[in-house]
Amino acid sequence: MPPGEFALIDRYFRDIGARRDVRVGVGDDGAVLAPPAGQELVAVVDTLVEGVHFPAGSPANSIGHRALAVNLSDIAAMGAAPAWALLALTLPRADERWLEAFAAGFAALARAHDLQLVGGDMTAGPLTVTVQVLGFAPRGEALLRGGARPGDLVCVTGTPGDAACGLALLQGRLRTPAMADEAALEVLRRRFLYPTPRSTAGPRLRGVASACIDISDGLAGDLTKLARASDCGVRVDVTQLPLSAPLIAIAGRAAAEHFALTGGDDYELCFTVPAARAAALAGLACTAIGRVTEGRDITVCRGDSVIEFSHSGFDHFAR
Ligand code: ADP
Ligand code: MG
Repeated sequence: MPPGEFALIDRYFRDIGARRDVRVGVGDDGAVLAPPAGQELVAVVDTLVEGVHFPAGSPANSIGHRALAVNLSDIAAMGAAPAWALLALTLPRADERWLEAFAAGFAALARAHDLQLVGGDMTAGPLTVTVQVLGFAPRGEALLRGGARPGDLVCVTGTPGDAACGLALLQGRLRTPAMADEAALEVLRRRFLYPTPRSTAGPRLRGVASACIDISDGLAGDLTKLARASDCGVRVDVTQLPLSAPLIAIAGRAAAEHFALTGGDDYELCFTVPAARAAALAGLACTAIGRVTEGRDITVCRGDSVIEFSHSGFDHFAR
């Protein structure tokens, strides 16, 4: 007889992480958690659906990593530190090799963040993974989307565009140069399969950034959301975009810019900083790509000339 639901939970999900502030974890009807005094809870949840958020047949290890990483990215964008997670897993069948690889991908990232899996759910159906993460930020200090002011610098961590290019490669949608550098291809594919949530940068931006958002639907679209929430405009200079060497080598400069502006799945942080606080960014791997402006326009330019650019970011219900 194949192992039942409870045996599977016991085997794969009972021992992911260990924290002292968990009074009751996996095994009871609910988790009992003790948030530290003086901190506010920050709660996020994200769902990954096979064929929508990742290609059918993606490695289970990557799916486990990504399901947690996308939530850790939201926590980082709030300037918070992650603590606890809940996992609701819908699987077509109880495939133990798949579960083992999935749990390993999830657990490696959880341990790296001192995060404990404290509960969840398992059901049969089309492959769907929902993760909720709870974290903390000191009272009143969480980073929001709405604090940008005209004159602030617009900055981004890492090298956006890599993940979208990696996904295009995984899906065979991109014509690659003959003799394409295999190491560069692998870097890009891994940036989709194993995104790195900016968990150190997020909390460091508390008291520094005026607004922050993570890039899940594309830099231009997510920056538009930040600008709308702040009731400001932004002006971004494509010549300032931090494009990675592998991205330029594989996609070429023009497509690289397009991936960086519109591709999703980067899980980099895009934030604004008053110029007077820019010195506090020293040592943080980020790049200034533009300015917050008066008005409500989202302007993309190349040096001094404005370029036509239409985008809206990914919207599940718009197409
Ligand atoms: P209930 O029926 O009360 O909702 P379950 O019997 O479904 O609870 O789950 C038993 C315990 O296992 C609960 O503590 C639940 O949070 C936990 N759990 C269930 N599925 C998962 C999972 N995929 N990962 C982690 N914990 C899980
Ligand atoms: Mg119950």
